Amino acid sequence: MENTNRKENSGNIFKKATDYVGRDVKSQNESKKLIVVIRLLLISVIIYFTINGILCIPEWNLTVILFYCVFFVVFACLFAVSYNYRSIVTLWVFNVGMIIWICSIVHLLGWNIGVQHFIMVLLILYFFSSYRQYTGKILYAVFLCVLRIMLFYIYHYSEPLIPLSTAKENMLQIINTITIFLCMSIIAFIFSRDSQELESKLVEYNAQLEKQANTDMLTGLYNRRKAVEYLESLTAKKKPQGKDYSGFSLCICDIDFFKKVNDNYGHDAGDKVLKGIAEIFREEMKEKTFAARWGGEEFLLLFPGCNGDNAYMELEKIRRKIKEMKVKTEKEDIGVTMTFGLTEYDFNSDLDLAIKEADKKLYIGKEQGRDRIIY
Ligand code: GH3
Ligand code: MG
Ligand code: MG
Repeated sequence: MENTNRKENSGNIFKKATDYVGRDVKSQNESKKLIVVIRLLLISVIIYFTINGILCIPEWNLTVILFYCVFFVVFACLFAVSYNYRSIVTLWVFNVGMIIWICSIVHLLGWNIGVQHFIMVLLILYFFSSYRQYTGKILYAVFLCVLRIMLFYIYHYSEPLIPLSTAKENMLQIINTITIFLCMSIIAFIFSRDSQELESKLVEYNAQLEKQANTDMLTGLYNRRKAVEYLESLTAKKKPQGKDYSGFSLCICDIDFFKKVNDNYGHDAGDKVLKGIAEIFREEMKEKTFAARWGGEEFLLLFPGCNGDNAYMELEKIRRKIKEMKVKTEKEDIGVTMTFGLTEYDFNSDLDLAIKEADKKLYIGKEQGRDRIIY
């Protein structure tokens, strides 16, 4: 019982701490992730100052201890004010503070403890901190690079103000390395997680948009735009060699006396008929065949790799199914028929001519009494 209470308490404290660090900035046009990253960096650096201080105090004089305390207090205050000021202000104070820290420590303790590598943390933090300001980023990168080279020339071969034993130097080198890796990981983790999420959302959204752009809202079939694109993709392919039939069959079909359906039973009933016909196309047409709404009550059906005779047999099944279909309306159940114009396309002729020919056959079908396939 006591154990569970203790677990609950520690869970609550952890939640409170993460909520506190993750609290949003007051300014509405600023990203939350930047301030969260800076707060986490500040916490890491404050812990790092404390460990450094505890390890090195025996070798230091009062001035250095004071210097450490000032940094500790400044960074702790910066953490506290990060809740009230804009994140860009906190970012710059953090950068300036860290640069002073790096230069001072290299000056005091020398090049060998590796504090100069914190410059890399500042570089990647600045690059991730905003989406624009390319010139600013480049200038800051150049500045940091020059600073590092200068520190190298001034301090690499000179004796530090406070010489440390090799053991202590190694220890500080390890602590610096761990803190720098931790800081870089925090930045990379938070910013990359966000961009990965954003990227997958975008991919999903683009797929959705593409689907919407290619789909007819009422029937759910492809629309004319997609049909034209698909036809172009089919005809752009080179004529395949050595196959029995390499072309495709193309059909344009139209509902018979559809105007009467609308006039007698209303537009909604007409819509229901269109949806019912689309459903039959979906059910009856095999995976490779393609159905699109070509116009108001006209559809385009494509049978890739299928000659006219085979397409005719497929269409005959579809024609019969449509004739058998009954659609419920407020007055009564209604049925419709469709007329089909079918033609073959073999890559030698003009595609527009093939479409016109299918249209002409459809017209002949209407003339001959409708509810038929003209091939
Ligand atoms: P035909 O047998 O000669 O094709 O006669 P028809 O009455 O079908 O031909 P017409 O082209 O005169 O009529 C087509 C009708 O289709 C007119 C139009 O109101 C209707 N229509 C077009 N799009 C839609 C739609 O999205 N929903 C509904 N309900 N009707 C539509
Ligand atoms: Mg019609
Ligand atoms: Mg029509």
